[in-house]
Amino acid sequence: MREKSYDVVVCGCGVAGFCAAVAAARIGARTAVTEKYYMPGGTLTVGGNCSVDQFNNPYKAHNRQVIAGIGWELMQRLARQGFARIPDFDEPVRYPQQYGVKVNPIAAAAVMDEMLLQAGVTIYYGQPTVDVTVQNSPEGKKLHNIIIATKQGLCSLNAKVFIDATGDGDVSAWAGAQFEAGAQDGSFQPGTLRFYPSFSPVDQEDYVLDYGDNRNHITNMDTTDSDKLTQANIVGRRLLMQQLLKNRKTGDEVPMMACAPEVAPREGRRIKGRSVMTQQDYVSGKLYPDSVCYSFWYVDIHRDGCPTYHEYIVDGTTPAIRLSCMQVQGFSNLLTAGRCISADRGANSALRVKASCMAIGQAAGTAGALAAVNYGGLVAEVPINQVKEQLSAAGAIVPVAEQ
Ligand SMILES: Cc1cc2nc3c(=O)[nH]c(=O)nc-3n(C[C@H](O)[C@H](O)[C@H](O)COP(=O)(O)OP(=O)(O)OC[C@H]3O[C@@H](n4cnc5c(N)ncnc54)[C@H](O)[C@@H]3O)c2cc1C
Repeated sequence: MREKSYDVVVCGCGVAGFCAAVAAARIGARTAVTEKYYMPGGTLTVGGNCSVDQFNNPYKAHNRQVIAGIGWELMQRLARQGFARIPDFDEPVRYPQQYGVKVNPIAAAAVMDEMLLQAGVTIYYGQPTVDVTVQNSPEGKKLHNIIIATKQGLCSLNAKVFIDATGDGDVSAWAGAQFEAGAQDGSFQPGTLRFYPSFSPVDQEDYVLDYGDNRNHITNMDTTDSDKLTQANIVGRRLLMQQLLKNRKTGDEVPMMACAPEVAPREGRRIKGRSVMTQQDYVSGKLYPDSVCYSFWYVDIHRDGCPTYHEYIVDGTTPAIRLSCMQVQGFSNLLTAGRCISADRGANSALRVKASCMAIGQAAGTAGALAAVNYGGLVAEVPINQVKEQLSAAGAIVPVAEQ
């Protein structure tokens, strides 16, 4: 088998993996990212969900921006070319979603390519991670390598530090990490198969507005089981086709619309970390010494057949995410980034939004790179102040206790 070695390998190039890889490479770590599609962005691009929520906390004085860094840089680069609509954070609050940044998915993927290449990341698109090897070490279990499937056959990627940004936490689960998934009764939030909004001609906007949005629910989607996901995707396409038929008037043209290649999941595994983000800590904005980034969204659990469950953030606070929620319990060199970090179900339903996943990705990539370059791959050895200083220097917003 071919073999390559890096300081940091990031598995999955959704918004979290993208920010992790760019952050690690900019610090000087030899970094690679693997992605199962030939396009970066995950749910943002391939999933057809082009809304990035949210960089500001509207319930704070002056509608303060709480997330910046690499994700924000991506938004700004897109906005400069007319491919992102960044709302005015000074506008009075009318409804919580009004501050989401809307982006064009093609441009988003192209600019992500550009930023990864400029940072010096080695990109393995269309080359999914398919297996892992774990070793025992005095510091705990250690991920030795991952195997990716390429056109030329299997290839081993070795690294000092690995970051699991696969969304569903596949890599950590294969390595034997503990996890929870879905609700305690075994049910999952519904997934959604979306029409690609930007693909639709203007005269077909009705289809998009009525059916291509979040209400297109594929019920109880178990994201830990490939056979169940196969069924979910068959159901999702059948649903979209039925909706096209229902909306079609006699004499209409054949609707020329595309949909995402897979149903986007609202939740997957939550990989057990050295600490667990709880809903209570989240909504009350509890700060810990290792809180490395903010998040902003409310508890948002979608349910089949009844209204979405919401719990709002305590006024005047901003949720903050701990680095220890990204450090996989029992592993010395494995971090998670994005929606699979260690959290209870309520906190997960809030921190999974894209701007938060971007901030988490940057934090994980920063800690991973520092560990790989200076501490022999031992993430727990990196002084937390070093991570925070590095994040601030790179333009990220690091939580601080307020007077
Ligand atoms: C229907 C729906 C609506 C949503 N609406 C919003 C919204 O309006 N605003 C908002 O901010 N957020 C929204 N979200 C949430 C948000 O989009 C996601 O939670 C977030 O994008 C997750 O980012 P991520 O990087 O953690 O994971 P993902 O986007 O899932 O990225 C994971 C990446 O890993 C890759 N991958 C997986 N397995 C492998 C493997 N074995 N090898 C290599 N690569 C692999 C995937 O292809 C993907 O690119 C929504 C989610 C859904 C499902």
